[in-house]
Amino acid sequence: MADDKKTNINNKKPKFSPYWVYGIIIVIFLAINVFSGLGSSTGSITTPSEFFKYLQDGDVDKVQIVNRREAKIYLTDEALRKEIHKKAIKTQLLPISGKSPNYQFEFGDLQNFENQLSKTLRDNNLTTAINYETEQNVWGDFLLTLLPFVLIIGVWIFIMRRMSGGAGGGGGAGQIFNIGKSKAKLFDQNSDVKTSFKDVAGLEGAKEEVQEIVDFLKNPEKYTSLGGKIPKGAILIGAPGTGKTLLAKAVAGEAKVPFFSLSGSDFVEMFVGVGASRVRDLFKQAKEKSPSIIFIDEIDAIGRARGRNAMSGSNDERENTLNQLLTEMDGFGTNTNVIVLAATNRADILDKALMRAGRFDRQIFVDLPDVRERKEIFEVHLRPIKKARGLDIDFLSKQTPGFSGADIANVCNEAALIAARKGKKSVGKQDFLDAVDRIIGGLEKKNKIITPAEKKAVAFHEAGHATVSWMLEHAAPLVKVTIVPRGRSLGSAWYLPEERLIVHPEQMLDEMCAALGGRAAEKVIFNKISTGALSDLEKITKQARAMVTVYGLSDKIGNLTYYDSSGQNEFGFTKPYSEKTAELIDKEISDIIEEQYQRALKILETNKDKLTELAEVLLDKEVIFRDNLEKIFGKRPFDKKDEDSTEEE
Ligand code: ADP
Ligand code: ZN
Repeated sequence: MADDKKTNINNKKPKFSPYWVYGIIIVIFLAINVFSGLGSSTGSITTPSEFFKYLQDGDVDKVQIVNRREAKIYLTDEALRKEIHKKAIKTQLLPISGKSPNYQFEFGDLQNFENQLSKTLRDNNLTTAINYETEQNVWGDFLLTLLPFVLIIGVWIFIMRRMSGGAGGGGGAGQIFNIGKSKAKLFDQNSDVKTSFKDVAGLEGAKEEVQEIVDFLKNPEKYTSLGGKIPKGAILIGAPGTGKTLLAKAVAGEAKVPFFSLSGSDFVEMFVGVGASRVRDLFKQAKEKSPSIIFIDEIDAIGRARGRNAMSGSNDERENTLNQLLTEMDGFGTNTNVIVLAATNRADILDKALMRAGRFDRQIFVDLPDVRERKEIFEVHLRPIKKARGLDIDFLSKQTPGFSGADIANVCNEAALIAARKGKKSVGKQDFLDAVDRIIGGLEKKNKIITPAEKKAVAFHEAGHATVSWMLEHAAPLVKVTIVPRGRSLGSAWYLPEERLIVHPEQMLDEMCAALGGRAAEKVIFNKISTGALSDLEKITKQARAMVTVYGLSDKIGNLTYYDSSGQNEFGFTKPYSEKTAELIDKEISDIIEEQYQRALKILETNKDKLTELAEVLLDKEVIFRDNLEKIFGKRPFDKKDEDSTEEE
């Protein structure tokens, strides 16, 4: 936007950096030192006893007692000619301050010193002049009184700049007055947004919906002529990395209308009222440029249900911001041609008022991609990559269940980097597999110190998972097992989860049993268990609790759920059930888990020889795939046809 740029340039001018404050303070300190040094003239340091000797010799012309603690000695002209006083003669730095003392020293107690002084004078019949003086360091005092003010002002400026600067920072002092202005970035015909719908793979339904929005803005008459109203807003809902922002960017690229983009957290500021005024400013700008689109990413930052956590009481500001947003969305008529797009991955916590018709009346769900969509996403992100000939994209998309678009983009990039590190000319299948491993498991820890005994335990643990899941009908088919330490885990078994929408209790139980297979194997083989099963136990405990309290799958508790989709009781201060039920729930959970553990133990006892064989192969190869298992166990009876072709390693 033209005037936005202008203010940016203006803001740059003062080039004020917070470090200046420190600089100023340092300069002041230096100044105090220098001025106080110049202000008072000094003589050579001496001691009281030497002074009294000089005094007795009649060398002293004048004694000046300064600030009741220091004596400055002026010698007579004859004395100055004496050899011992040579060092006390100084060339003066600044002649203006008059004659400077030849010696000086601090005496302890004034009273004592005076007594001794008068005694010496009396005893030696001397008439040396003595005078008293209070010396003030004018400059030093002045600067010292100034210092606290300078400090306070400095700190204040620093804080103000912190508050108003935000992430962008770098503005000038004028920024303080711009704090209520919206921080939206504007994209329009002049700016080069290169994203188009071609860059968004999969997401057909969502794409269609946003395409319609683009159409609304381009040809509003087509819709309004039939009496329809153009929607005011649409909200994109989906897991992180599924391409919501990408979709919005594509809208910006395709619509060729001004596109204001900002994040929900941009409204949030420490000052009361700033959020609301930013919302007002944003809508004002958007209306001036209409037809236009406003995109608010992470809208949950302001759109959280109001009046929820009464505990903190600090949410008034966010509520004000949200109220202002609602008011603005109500306020503009259907003919203003401003459409608000928003994105969130926490639709469940959004305020219901936001979703009401007339505001974000369209909800566009952006799901994790399925196999086919993953393939399309791979195709998009493989475009710039030099692939090895015959790279099987179908295979890659099958190997990446549960990956989001962002993960896939990451895999492609990582694979290219891995291939480059190996000095290859093109990126091959193994590079992609390594990249997948790395993204799931973290960096391979080649130098992790692991004793042979530990390694054996890990091998049996993972072999236990593999064996149990092989034997159970509903457990997810295995992809591979490794005992290469990665990230924080020492080994892992990967499965190809079925993409299913409804889960039956048998499936859940089988999966729990497979998850317990690791610990069960340790028990069966070594007759002792270890901490290695922590993440397994965490997973199944959560799952068992969900079965009982969320999905109503437990006979004893019955067909009820304690799940609250409105999220009203997010912090769980009060449990929606009695103490007795709580006990029953705990009992059910531990019964379910115990039953599956016993089942896993039984399976492994009966297949102990195969388990051992598998663990040995694993110890030898470190990574095994499903055909290794097939060699040991024979064909898995439960596998569906199409899944069999997954592996070809
Ligand atoms: P979010 O849903 O969290 O806003 P983003 O839109 O920021 O996710 O996605 C992050 C990145 O992931 C994108 O920049 C893009 O590279 C990739 N990506 C995600 N989904 C897709 C998709 N459907 N097609 C192509 N790339 C995608
Ligand atoms: Zn395990």
